[in-house]
Amino acid sequence: MNQKQDIRALNKEQLRDFFVAQNNKAFRGNQVYEWLWRKGAHNFDEMTNISKDTRNMLEANFVINHIEVDTMQQSSDGTIKNAIKLHDGLVVESVLIPTETRTTACVSSQVGCSLNCTFCATARIKKMRNLNPDEIYDQVVAIDQQSRLYQNHKLSNIVFMGMGEPLLNYNNVLKSIEKITSDEGLAISPKRITLSTVGLPKMIKKLADDEVKFNLAVSLHSAIDEVRSAMMPINEKSNLSELLESLQYWYVKTKKKITFEYVVWKGINDKKKDIDALVDYCKKIPSKVNLIEYNAIEEAGFQQADAKAIDYYVRTLEKNNITVNVRKSRGKDIDAACGQLANKHAQENSEEERC
Ligand code: SF4
Repeated sequence: MNQKQDIRALNKEQLRDFFVAQNNKAFRGNQVYEWLWRKGAHNFDEMTNISKDTRNMLEANFVINHIEVDTMQQSSDGTIKNAIKLHDGLVVESVLIPTETRTTACVSSQVGCSLNCTFCATARIKKMRNLNPDEIYDQVVAIDQQSRLYQNHKLSNIVFMGMGEPLLNYNNVLKSIEKITSDEGLAISPKRITLSTVGLPKMIKKLADDEVKFNLAVSLHSAIDEVRSAMMPINEKSNLSELLESLQYWYVKTKKKITFEYVVWKGINDKKKDIDALVDYCKKIPSKVNLIEYNAIEEAGFQQADAKAIDYYVRTLEKNNITVNVRKSRGKDIDAACGQLANKHAQENSEEERC
């Protein structure tokens, strides 16, 4: 049996070509594209300026795959966590993070993750597949709608910091950003988008070569190879000096500062030598540091460092003229905070996979 293609996987040119191949007018492709993206049509019958015969022809050839917000949990601090059901029944999570001045969408790029960072809940779910561009785009649309409904303003920022490593789904992530930033999509400025990665040097250089306009954040967590490798196995394949070289390449090409995401854990990276190594590393590349509050996950055995250690980090970084922000985690009561995205559904996905 022929499987119907997802029509949203076609770009405007391909849609126009499809209509021409059907002996129809190319501009029908523009009309359908508008229905799919600007008007968010979920079925062909909504496309009222397209004749019934043409709609039937589309129906015979294509499906319109959309994500579905399966469950929505609201935290006492206003954070919303969505369990997103994909067309094949797999589930990922996305989070709306409100502050007084902005609403940020934290979106997923893969179902599960293959990188096994020891502190991360998502790492418990094996990678099942990459999300396609419209599954990423739809997460942003859903959070924009929630922001308008619950915060009375539109979505302002997007971070690729949910489930998965975005640079291991490079093409689809970039296509989704193209759509998010285009006038035919959400017209959100790339300056308001941040891609967060564990730091894959080859892919960081590719981003720079592709002249992307969005921001780059790297989950650093230690500037000492042995310490970082123990938490993030990827560091054994590409160590800190390779990472640094790629970040310098990025900066030369884009002139954009790097943000280092950094959690301070008790007994792991809370000593003077850890702070000194971070300062040295930051001095080699224009950068700033976000110190992120850690949310313990069951069984991981990590504990946030005490306030004194974090304060020492802040003072030492500031003394060395390195910008530092302390980021309080939000949505802790619904497991929506950083490192906690490993939804029960996704774990069920994993169980089912194993069965
Ligand atoms: S921190 Fe990111 S890259 Fe590491 S396991 Fe979690 S989702 Fe994957």
